[in-house]
Amino acid sequence: MKFGVVLCPHCKAARGVRLKAKTGTCSKCGKKIDLSKARIICRVKTEKELALAVMEYNIKNTDFEDIYEEDKKLIKGKDGRIVSVGQKKSYNVYDEVASVLVRIRGKDEKVIAAANELCRHQMVFTENDLFEVLKRIGIKTPEDCQKYIVKLLSENVIYEPKTGIYKCLGGN
Ligand SMILES: [Zn+2]
Repeated sequence: MKFGVVLCPHCKAARGVRLKAKTGTCSKCGKKIDLSKARIICRVKTEKELALAVMEYNIKNTDFEDIYEEDKKLIKGKDGRIVSVGQKKSYNVYDEVASVLVRIRGKDEKVIAAANELCRHQMVFTENDLFEVLKRIGIKTPEDCQKYIVKLLSENVIYEPKTGIYKCLGGN
């Protein structure tokens, strides 16, 4: 056996080494690894086997929690407040849908377009989703939104595949 896989004592990444070598440099964190002290977690004969063994170990031991934490950091605001992906996305959807409605004349037509746009973005929508959009075009109360839902249902613009979940008829 000429080669081995060791774990970097600094960052825990696996790397391949020649067993005869005394030191190695971690390819992930760049720090020196004293091979006489490092634990050899597996030994192989060829460089090809070594590359596979290293890759396999690193994939198996990837800390997905850490990666998730990193992702969350990416969507934190400058003040450190967390902006969740879901929130950020749905706000964008409502604003985007509302911006399309500006070009449409007539309140009823706007509401139909709102339903269609919501379905285009997220397949289905809830009464709250529709209200979020309608709020942006001057419909102020949830009761008004409910009336529009009833109207859209009776006119077969939308249907209710599941209680409280609406989907547009035709397309999507
Ligand atoms: Zn390292």
